[in-house]
Amino acid sequence: MASITLEGLKKTYTGDVQAVKGVDLEVRDGEFVVLVGPSGCGKSTLLRMVAGLETITEGTLKIGDRVVNKLEPAERDIAMVFQNYALYPHMTVYNNLAYGLKNRGFNKDEIEKRVQVAAKMLEIEEFLERKPRKLSGGQRQRVAMGRALVREPAAFLFDEPLSNLDAKLRVQMRVEIKQLQRRLKTTSLYVTHDQLEAMTLGDRLVVLNAGQIEQVGTPMEIYARP
Ligand code: ADP
Ligand code: ADP
Repeated sequence: MASITLEGLKKTYTGDVQAVKGVDLEVRDGEFVVLVGPSGCGKSTLLRMVAGLETITEGTLKIGDRVVNKLEPAERDIAMVFQNYALYPHMTVYNNLAYGLKNRGFNKDEIEKRVQVAAKMLEIEEFLERKPRKLSGGQRQRVAMGRALVREPAAFLFDEPLSNLDAKLRVQMRVEIKQLQRRLKTTSLYVTHDQLEAMTLGDRLVVLNAGQIEQVGTPMEIYARP
């Protein structure tokens, strides 16, 4: 795992839309940071810049000690978990997990090992031969996380991964993500607009407002009322 460092990160879209206005933030090695804030405050833009899905207008982005501003998403050694699962519907769960590794040229034994480890961790071993449509929403979400996990990346990015789930599953998945975090000590940057999710998951919360950091602190510091 590695830290993620943002120094004066800015994003201006065409038409002079200043979505992110100079953000300084360090997600430490093994830390789970949750980015919260109202719709339109720039959360998604910020995360997408870290992922390499959006160009950086100004500032420096580091993964560990490496400046990654100009690197392609695949070269950044980070994995992103999306809200829409992003699973391949025609492939089995096993092949959904293995696909990225095959593309990266991993050998069969290594792929088998990593898929089994991730499947065990996420308790999806019994679904490996099924297609995604035969799974529940929560199970699909776990497969989506598994796809990120098998890559053993330096850091994880989460873009509102639970917002499509019903209330009960959301609570369940929140607990699972928390347990996974405790076990794996992954460096994670997690975007949500759900305060409860932020409080449960975050070691630290970053409150974004109109493209700028408004507050940084532990859930207690942010939400405790004196
Ligand atoms: P959030 O994820 O917090 O809802 P976004 O990062 O999606 O916020 O959006 C931040 C601001 O940037 C909003 O004003 C939004 O309309 C604008 N924006 C997002 N994507 C684009 C884009 N591709 N082109 C122009 N403006 C955009
Ligand atoms: P979400 O944040 O859930 O992805 P949005 O409705 O914010 O959904 O954005 C959907 C897509 O449209 C994103 O790719 C975003 O970058 C883009 N987008 C958002 N706001 C604007 C905008 N004002 N102008 C152009 N594209 C935008």
